[in-house]
Amino acid sequence: MRRPCPSFCLNNVRRIDPVAGEDARGRLCVRNGRLAAAPAAGMPEHDGSGLTVLPGLVDVHVHFRDPGMPLAEDRFSGSAAAARGGFTHVVTMPNTTPPCDCPAAVRAQVEAGTDVHILPSACISTGRGGRAVADLAALAAAGAVAFTDDGSMVADDAVMRQAMRQAAALGIPVFDHAMDPALMANGIIRGEAPLAARLGLPVIPPETEVVAVRRDLALAGETGCAMHLQHLSCAGSVEALRTALRHGWPVSGEATPHHLLLTAEQIAEDDGNWRMNPPLGSRSDREALLEAVIDGTIAILATDHAPHAPGTKNKGFARAPFGVIGLENALSASWLALGGAGGMSLLEFTARWTRGPAALVGLPPPGLRPDDCPASFTLVDFSASWTVEPDRFASRSRNCPFAGRTLPGRVRMTVCEGRLTWLDPDWADAPCFY
Ligand SMILES: [Zn+2]
Repeated sequence: MRRPCPSFCLNNVRRIDPVAGEDARGRLCVRNGRLAAAPAAGMPEHDGSGLTVLPGLVDVHVHFRDPGMPLAEDRFSGSAAAARGGFTHVVTMPNTTPPCDCPAAVRAQVEAGTDVHILPSACISTGRGGRAVADLAALAAAGAVAFTDDGSMVADDAVMRQAMRQAAALGIPVFDHAMDPALMANGIIRGEAPLAARLGLPVIPPETEVVAVRRDLALAGETGCAMHLQHLSCAGSVEALRTALRHGWPVSGEATPHHLLLTAEQIAEDDGNWRMNPPLGSRSDREALLEAVIDGTIAILATDHAPHAPGTKNKGFARAPFGVIGLENALSASWLALGGAGGMSLLEFTARWTRGPAALVGLPPPGLRPDDCPASFTLVDFSASWTVEPDRFASRSRNCPFAGRTLPGRVRMTVCEGRLTWLDPDWADAPCFY
């Protein structure tokens, strides 16, 4: 869905703007696709009581499988899923087939007509092989906003150091999937999961991540390159990040909704939809992640949306590929973890999905001030709850560990750069916008 946003004014809306520090009742006025301070004469006005407007959400970690696995996702289905989740900007990962390691591949990621603004990342190493640094200057010139070999770590310290020195000179961040391949061996699950003992599954110890995180942080301190740690899952990683931030190193970390809400102890069934990399951590890992997001040590939430075609994930845990989808339930699942039980303010929570990720990839701070830029925002009903039915998702994939679960907060409308990209058909008392 992508059409010009209608002009309208919603009164009595709760406005959340982390840039202005605003959490107050007020108006949401859209005129000719731009935010306005007041309604123009004759503009339709509606009562927006019960609705909350946030700046458009930014996800710095999605896999759209394009090119390579169109049955799992492509840039159009992935963008539609993102719009339904309230996102307006996403950073695509380069572990496509072939990998996104040349300027033409970077340029091909960005195509007119998608429901979100796609910001491509590009490979650190040629072919994601981990042996030779790609032509980072050419990739940056083509539009890459970050470098990463996500899906695997650049394990060779010398290669990573060389890449980070070059990236620092270009002013582009490096993201790392910090999981040491030697320590991971053939592991697929944390030892705390009851299923691990029951089926005798090979275990991934938390040190697999912590050792890799410490290496990456040390290289950031040495090279001055902005290092972003993807999908943190362990208490030890959080502690290492906290220490590095105290040193003033240019580092950041992200947490996913699934690591914030689910734990290894809950994996009792032989269900491939619970298999992801890094794996779900222990209860104490989850508590450490929640604390870090709330206190700002982890300033970024991200989905790691990882689609797999229907049929690939239903063969049991041991045979399933790693990864879960997350765009369409991200806001609800993370709000349940952080706002409900966690007690986090909606303003700070919104900052983790907007200001934090935008700053990482050089986007202007997303706010709600009237301006000359086309409007990007999402309208949410936090009083509504909904049951996750992956069969109704816009994503082509169904590998969601939240299936059947009731979550709080429903995205009613998403507007991306002046275009209406999502209008919830289940919004029973929606104003008549057209
Ligand atoms: Zn990863």
